[in-house]
This record gives sequence, C-alpha cells and structure tokens, in this order.
Amino acid sequence: MAEATSRALDRISTAPRYSEADAIRLNNMFRGRDTVEMLETVLKEQMLGDVAVVSSFGAEAVVLLHLISRVDPAVPVLFLETGKHFPETLSYRDQITALLGLSDVRSLTPEAGDILNRDETGLRWSYDPDGCCEIRKVKPLAKALADFDAQISGRKAFQSATRAALPRFEIEEGRLKMNPLADWDKAQIDAYFAEHSLPRHPLEAQGYLSIGCAPCTSIVKPGEDPRAGRWRGWDKTECGIHTPVTSSDDNGANDPVF
Ligand code: SF4
Repeated sequence: MAEATSRALDRISTAPRYSEADAIRLNNMFRGRDTVEMLETVLKEQMLGDVAVVSSFGAEAVVLLHLISRVDPAVPVLFLETGKHFPETLSYRDQITALLGLSDVRSLTPEAGDILNRDETGLRWSYDPDGCCEIRKVKPLAKALADFDAQISGRKAFQSATRAALPRFEIEEGRLKMNPLADWDKAQIDAYFAEHSLPRHPLEAQGYLSIGCAPCTSIVKPGEDPRAGRWRGWDKTECGIHTPVTSSDDNGANDPVF
C-alpha cells in the first residue's frame, strides 16, 4: 500500500461512529481509484470496521455482490425480507447466494408485533407506503445495522435524479455508507454482467429495471429513470433506508473509474 494511503488510513477514525470529515477524507483518498482496488483496500484492511452489504437482490444487485465475493465471500449480506417480494426475487437471492458462495446472507424480517398492530391486513402499502416501509424495512435494518460500523450499498448515480450526486462515501445518521458503484454507468454494469456471465434477475427482461416489493414495483417505460417504476403515483422515491442525495460534496467521487 502506498505510504500516502497508509498515512490517510491512520487518520480515519476506527470508532463505531463516523463524521462528515471521515467521508470527505475517504472520497479524496479513493478519488480516481478503480472500484475493485478500493474494495480490496477497504475490506482487506478492515479500514471501516465491521461492515455489512445491504442488498435487495434486485436488478443489477449481483454486480456489487460479485465484486465483494471475490474479495471476501463471508462479508455479511443483509436482505430485507419484507414479506412483499416477488417470488422471483427470493429464488434469485438463493441462486446468487449459491453461485457466489456467499456464506453469511441474513434475511431481516419485521417484528411480529409491528405487523399485528400496524399492518394486520397487509395492505398498509396501499394507503401509507412510508409507514409500511418503516415497519418492514427501516426498523429491521436499523436493528441489524446496530452491530456494524458501516454499510455498503449498491446505489448508482444514474438510477434517478435524486441519486445524481451520489458520492462513494457518505454519512447517514452517524454511520458510514459506502457506494462502490456510485460512478458506474449503465454500460459498465452491462459489460460487467457480460464479462462474468452473471445471471439477470428474471423480471428484468419484462421491463422491471429497479425491483423492490411487488406491490410497489412497476414496469419502467422507455425514456424513464430506471427507478421510475418504484412507488408509481406516490411522491416517494426512497424507502427510508436511503435518503435522496441533495448535495454533492464528493470531491470528484463521481469521476469515471475506468
Ligand atoms: S416497498 Fe411497498 S410493500 Fe415494501 S415495505 Fe415499502 S411500502 Fe411496503
């Protein structure tokens, strides 16, 4: 490892909580660096502490999982088992887990009491999607992430206008979030699929370009953002486990990697 990088690593807090200064420092450290090199450094050096990947096992999710599995297939993968997924997603999760040899995929389920008290009919998504996401996604993930210092997400800037300024490293509620694919475009994603012969989510060919829970996912029309099919008809762009990116302080983190 370069001496400059070692010095920079020494300055990064190893405490379980991070600051905006840590994210800025990391964005500067890895500016212009290849994604694979960045992941190898971060994971092998354990420079972010205890890390988990949060994956939807939706369209394109396998790219990040493949990249990580080649460095360390034992990195915990957190999957929000909301009870509302397409059966195809659950099958795809199992297929990808076996294919990549992921040894620690954890399915996070909602609290039984929350379902009983706040969504007994299972239809809360139809009149209060924020409340439904709170029960089925936000709370279970927050509980699971309490055991980790940082999370890795598969978000990409090109997916929607609300993610256009996505940096590689950011801080959310005191926890570090790493977005290794922030600066990848659609062509790079497609090339990676082809190069490694990775299987596509079975619903992608039907026009589902961003795949979440079945009731809140629809087919994307030509010319729309890939995420336009999520919560169609609602003023809602994220489920609450991510917040829309409103400013860019990435110090060039969106520069092309290749
Ligand atoms: S995406 Fe839809 S079904 Fe899934 S948790 Fe959110 S509101 Fe509920």
